[in-house]
Amino acid sequence: MDYPLKKSFTNKPHTARSTLKAVQDIFFPRSCIQCSGPVEDSPYLYICKNCLGFLILAHPPNCKRCGYPFLADKILSKNCPHCAELNPNYSRGYTLCLAKKTGRQLIHNLKYNNGLYVMKDLESIIQQLPHLKKICQDAILVPVPLHPTKFRERGFNQSQAFAQVLQKTLNANIQVKNILIRTRFTRSQTALSREQRKQNIRNAFALSANIKLGFEKKYILIDDVFTTGSTANACAKVLKKAGIQTIELITLGHG
Ligand SMILES: [Zn+2]
Ligand SMILES: [Zn+2]
Repeated sequence: MDYPLKKSFTNKPHTARSTLKAVQDIFFPRSCIQCSGPVEDSPYLYICKNCLGFLILAHPPNCKRCGYPFLADKILSKNCPHCAELNPNYSRGYTLCLAKKTGRQLIHNLKYNNGLYVMKDLESIIQQLPHLKKICQDAILVPVPLHPTKFRERGFNQSQAFAQVLQKTLNANIQVKNILIRTRFTRSQTALSREQRKQNIRNAFALSANIKLGFEKKYILIDDVFTTGSTANACAKVLKKAGIQTIELITLGHG
């Protein structure tokens, strides 16, 4: 899939694309998602050089349940404060970056600003996390579904878009399958406590009708943000109940 970009970059040959990009940059200077300043001489399209320092990627080692990146001298995998109360229905959790400052803006633009244009920058982030290729090799990625009402409002499912970028970028025989549905509309989790989130999301997901599961396959749930893990965990519960043995989780941001 090719993503509709904000400033219509295309798949033209490299030289033509570079010229086109240079011309576009004159007439439509790209602005940074974090500081709104111009983006020049940056490896990203929508993150300026100054704000690169506020993008914290989740390089290993990480918490095994939520993917939070630990400094090598502080591996706290048994006592991670972010997921200590989670009883996961999946075996491993990973994330791409901290959802703070630039990372937070990336997710915010994607979700609320009709921001499929940030997908090219997401590709660049994935390329900097080579351990993801092995994790996703031959796996089936399962985006956390949106309720149809939400889907109509937003026009796309951000978790599905994220899954498709992983598929496109990692070249690891990945399939993306929408095998889960949301069975009821749930209120926004943003203002809820950990326990309220758990209650709010309980029984909100089910398997789609008429799907075939490959029980020998690894299924990886794909979500935009890891906050308390309750949404992804509710989805993992459905997959587990259906008999799937290997379930993992990848979120775009943590926090
Ligand atoms: Zn900036
Ligand atoms: Zn954790």
